[in-house]
Formats: sequence, C-alpha cells, structure tokens
Amino acid sequence: MIFAKQALTATGWGKNIRISVRGGRILTVSPDQTPQATDVQVDVLLPALANLHSHSFQRAMAGMTEHRKAGKDSFWTWRDMMYRFTKHLTPEHIEAIAALVFMEMQEAGYASVGEFHYVHHQPDGTAYDDLGELSARIAAAAADTGIGLTHLPVLYTYGGAGQAPLQAGQARFGNTVDRFNALSARARAIVATLPDDCQVGIAPHSLRATCPDDLVAVLQAHDAGPVHIHIAEQPKEVADIAGWLSARPVEWLLQNADVSTDWCLIHATHMTSGETQNMAKSGAVAGLCPITEANLGDGPFNGPTYLLHGGAFGIGSDSNVLISLTEELRTLEYSQRLRDMARNVMVDGEGSIGETLYCGAARGGAQALGRGAGVIAVGEWADLVAIDSADPALCALPAQQLLDGLCFAARDRVITDVWSAGRHCVQAGKHVKSDQITAAYRSAMCSLMSVL
Ligand code: ZN
Repeated sequence: MIFAKQALTATGWGKNIRISVRGGRILTVSPDQTPQATDVQVDVLLPALANLHSHSFQRAMAGMTEHRKAGKDSFWTWRDMMYRFTKHLTPEHIEAIAALVFMEMQEAGYASVGEFHYVHHQPDGTAYDDLGELSARIAAAAADTGIGLTHLPVLYTYGGAGQAPLQAGQARFGNTVDRFNALSARARAIVATLPDDCQVGIAPHSLRATCPDDLVAVLQAHDAGPVHIHIAEQPKEVADIAGWLSARPVEWLLQNADVSTDWCLIHATHMTSGETQNMAKSGAVAGLCPITEANLGDGPFNGPTYLLHGGAFGIGSDSNVLISLTEELRTLEYSQRLRDMARNVMVDGEGSIGETLYCGAARGGAQALGRGAGVIAVGEWADLVAIDSADPALCALPAQQLLDGLCFAARDRVITDVWSAGRHCVQAGKHVKSDQITAAYRSAMCSLMSVL
C-alpha cells in the first residue's frame, strides 16, 4: 500500500490517501485514511508522466555537437554528426546507454517511455542473425530498469523526400515493408517477455523516409496500437514534402491517412493555422519535445491555436540531450512566451499553466503510448510519482499551486519516488539499480570513445 499526505487523483486533490496496487494496476484509492506501519509513505503523489518520444542512444552524444564550425550549423549538420556516431555503436553499447537513459527518465519522474527505435542493423546495413537483436537490447534495458516500455520499431526506407536512396549513414536504419513487418513481429515476441504494461507500436519514421504506398502497407499490417511519426520538424522538410506530394506534411497526412487517437505526431512544429486546427480535431497526440526542439533550432509549436481546438499533447525527451521533466514543461511554455511576448500562454481561457501542462501531458502521453494511465484512478496502471512539498521551491505553495511550482520553480530533486506500473523503481530520489546501471554506462562509453 502507498500512503500519501496529499494526492492529485481523478477527482481532484485529496488528503491522507491510501492506494493499493495489484498486478501493476491501481486497485483502490481511499481518502482520509491513517497510514499503516507497512505502507510506503510519501508526501505528494501525482500521476507519473509518459515520456512519449525517445531515441535513447543519442544520450551518449550529448554535449558533442555544441561547437560552432564555419558556416551555419543546423539540424542537418547535427544529423551528420549523429550518423557518424551511430556507425560505432555495438549492441552492448545500445543496451547500456538505454538502461542509463531509462533510469534517468524514472529519476526525473517519468514512469514509461516510447522508444522510437530506428537503429536496427549492423553498420553496413546487414541484418543481425536475430533481426530483432537491437530491439532485444532495448527490451533488456527496460527489464533492467523496470520502466514501462512502448517499443516503436521504425520503418525507414528512403534517404529523403521522393524516394531518394538511403545514404551510407542511414544503412543501419533501412527496411523494406516486408522486412519491417518481420521485424515488428519479432519485436512483439521480445516485448511479450516483459511485464504486461509493455507493448509494441509502429513508427513510420517520417514522410521523407517512407512513401505513400509503403505507409498504406504498414498501416494495413498493423492490427492495433500506437502509430508514431516525425512530422513538420524543419522548414526544409515542409518544402521538400510540398514539392513532392503537393501538400504540406501535416496537411498531406491528415488527408491521406486515418489519423485518430492511436496516432502521435512528433514535433508538428511547422503548421498553418488550418493544419493546427485539423490536427487538434483528429484526436491524435502532438508529441512535443521542447528541449530537443530548442537544441536543434526547430521553432516553437503553435500552442494557443492547438489548445483552443481541444488538441491533445504529451512530452518527449527525443535526443535526450538533457532528461528533465520539469525543464521540458517549462521550456514548452517559455517558447510560447518568447514568441508571443506574453505570459501564461499554454492554457485555453483562464487557469493554472502548471496544471494544464502537467495534467495535459499526463493524459496525452499515456494516450500516445497506448497506456491506461495519466490519472490516479482505479483500474489504471500504477504509474505514480511522489514529490517533496517541503522542498524550499515548493514549501510556501498550497495544493492548487504545487504544479505551477513544480513546472516553473522546482528542480528534479523534489522527486522522491516513482512507480512504473506498480514497480517501485525510484526510492529516496534514486533508482534502485543506479550504481550498477551507471557503472555499466561508464564502461560502455570508455569502449565507445576508444573507437570514435
Ligand atoms: Zn525524434
């Protein structure tokens, strides 16, 4: 049992809440209780967020791409560096990096992750003996850390818009539709060995890395579950797709695919007002990655129009250059304030920004990962996070302002405990396997740096 002095449940803020968990799901939520000796006692309990978009391996190159060279650095020069880095990753590196990343996510307050997984093959593009070798490495990292995994194998067939051939740096990503379907089946078998909350979706990488016929084919082969796609991250991508398909990326996708609540459109940065409205009405989740979008110079999301039309959104750490849930949320709001020269932008009408951001991302993130979670309610997965409201950043705030304090004033140190589907992985602010996972990561990085 978990006892919380305060908790934000599906019915609002309550005091002295006891929660029981069975089979990873919330069995009972009882207010106005007395703690029992065997209870895990925490201060403030919240639904934990899903991190809906991650490429875990990119964590290992954080800090390596912040040096300006002659000419203008851009998303595309960053991508060249990422390709060079990817060439040297072994399966062992990929597993050790993913474990560190998943651990850092849990310590930052995330209970689950959508791993958008596109490095599938050996450096020259040859498949491993087990087509799902690298999916198995991601699953092993999830098993090690206890994070709730939604594994998203990526279809990546072309090197650019108009079915351009893959470049050398993209050889590890490439699959035809048939090989992708075989890989997805293998990934399902691998993830079936994980706890029941873990699952597999699909991720056509982007419109530029696939083509209309292939997109139809993989969607037809996909029974149910999440569909994620990168879209409209960069102006060049919008221009390339418009030149090829005679429509802007989001416009084209909404007209040509049955985009609905199973879908998560990652970034969706460059949209017209009409695209923004239509995407909001589709029921899909906007997968926003504010720290990475700032780091890569993508641009700000069209938040006010999207919220006005009831759009769902969630948060992802994408390149994992910095894993911080609180900083993701405040960066999202600050990007809007800087563009609009206004305050308190990410709310429709009046209300708390912190609550809109946190609760919106909790619901949207869970939706995007196909995960019954995002609120504390009976029957949902027990994805829970506890924070310490006695921290100096929060100690003056009543319950109704705690989420504003968390989003704008607190550091991640206020997070004390995290449960992923009932697995109590973070305790007293630290992952229960922190020492072992960190040591394995350091060792992997030594090995990797010796060949870079
Ligand atoms: Zn991404």
